[in-house]
Amino acid sequence: MRTKHPDFPFFGSKYPDARCIDGHLYDLDDIDEEGHLLDIGITPCPFCNKEKFIDWYGSDKYNQVVDYVKEHYPDFN
Ligand SMILES: [Zn+2]
Repeated sequence: MRTKHPDFPFFGSKYPDARCIDGHLYDLDDIDEEGHLLDIGITPCPFCNKEKFIDWYGSDKYNQVVDYVKEHYPDFN
């Protein structure tokens, strides 16, 4: 399990609520009392699975995520 890029808002929050694990996004708000992720991670990551992500969500959503990451994580490229 390794994240190559920052978390970002995706599942409806204004703060980063999506984490990429092995190419799929997990909802960081979807956790049990002990903090374990409950999401099953079927959402393609826009960075690791760009084509599939755009297939599912369209390029507007893709650009929105990329713009957020560029703005909030200037060190990430
Ligand atoms: Zn990713």
